[in-house]
Amino acid sequence: MTQTPTSSPSPFWSQPAVERALTGAHDSDRLSRSYLFVGPDGVGKWAAAMWVAKCILCYETASGSRPCGTCDACRRVEACTHPDCHVLFPVRKSDEDEDIEAFLSAKRTEPFAVVRFAKRANLAIERVRELISELNKTSVEGGSKVAIIAGADQMDKDSQTVLLKTIEEPPPGAHFVLTAADSGRIYPTIRSRCQLIRFAPVAPDAISARLQSERNIDPAQADLIANLCGGGWGNALRLATEEVEAWRQFAVTFWQKAFQIQTSTLLEEIEKAFRKRSLDQVLEAFDVWAYCLRGDCARVGDLSSRRAPSEDGAPIRDLETGWACWRILRNGRSILWVNVLPRSAVAGTFLTLRERLKRS
Ligand SMILES: [Zn+2]
Repeated sequence: MTQTPTSSPSPFWSQPAVERALTGAHDSDRLSRSYLFVGPDGVGKWAAAMWVAKCILCYETASGSRPCGTCDACRRVEACTHPDCHVLFPVRKSDEDEDIEAFLSAKRTEPFAVVRFAKRANLAIERVRELISELNKTSVEGGSKVAIIAGADQMDKDSQTVLLKTIEEPPPGAHFVLTAADSGRIYPTIRSRCQLIRFAPVAPDAISARLQSERNIDPAQADLIANLCGGGWGNALRLATEEVEAWRQFAVTFWQKAFQIQTSTLLEEIEKAFRKRSLDQVLEAFDVWAYCLRGDCARVGDLSSRRAPSEDGAPIRDLETGWACWRILRNGRSILWVNVLPRSAVAGTFLTLRERLKRS
C-alpha cells in the first residue's frame, strides 16, 4: 500500500473510490497520461494530484514503495519546487506574484487548503503557453514531467484550445493532472482526452468529527461549519479561521433578530453591514441563513403544540412555510450571480421572507 506523509492524514481522506482508482492504476503501472479530477473545493484534488506527481517523479526504484514521500524528489514536489513538476493555477493578473506566493504557501502547509482571491482570478493564455513551452523542453532530471493545472475550469476558450493541442499530442514523458470544481466548463474535447476521477463531497458528520478531534472546535460550531463547507475539508478549515468565523457569527446573529425588528431598522442594518462585503461573503451569509432556517424548521415539531415560537430566528409554524422560506433564500442567493448589488439582494430576500411569514 502506498502512503504519503502530508500534514493531512492521507491525500485520499474520505475518498475511498478515488484511492482505489489511483492506487490500483499505480500498482499495475497504468497511471493515465492525463487526469481530470473533479469535485468540490477542498476535497483533496490537489493532494491527490501531488500524489500522482510523486508517483511519477519519486527516486525510489521498488515500485511497491513509490511514492516514498521522503526522497528529495517527493519533498520537492510537495514544496512545489521540483523542476519537472509544473504547477499552474488561477491568479489575478494585477497581483500575479502576490497570488502565486499566497497559493503556494497555503498548499505547502495544507494540501487541502482552499485559496480564494479577492477579485476574479484566471488562467491567462500566456501562462498556459509558458507551461507548454516548459513541457516541450528536455526534463531537468532526465525523467518524466508533470503538469498540474488547478482550477482548470477557469481557463477561457483560447487557453483551452492551446492546452487541448498539447494534451492530444503530449511531449514525450509529459503527464497532466487537471483539477476542476465544475467539469461542465471544460471542453468535451479536453474531457474526452483525460481520465475523469470524481471526488465526492464528504458527509458533514465526518467533517464535524474531524474538526472536533483535530482542531478542538466545539460541536455546535463544528456542525455548522461541516454543513456550510460543501463537503470539502479544506473549505471547512477556511471556514474555521477566526476572520471567517466572525462573519459567520454576524450572519447567525443577524438571522436571529431579522424577524423581530422594525422594517426600517432591518433595512438600515442591511445597508450598514452589507455595503462593503464581497460576493463570497454574501454567498456565505446566505449559506449560514439556510442552515439557521433548517434549525428553525427542525423546531416545528416542538412548537406545534403552542404555535407561538419565542426562540430566535424565523418563526416557522409549519413545514410548508419552511419550504417557502427555503425557496426565497435560494432565489435570493441565485440573484447574487446576476449583476445586482449584494445588499439589494439581501434586503429583497428578507422583506419577502417577512411577508411570507406574516401569512403563515
Ligand atoms: Zn520519493
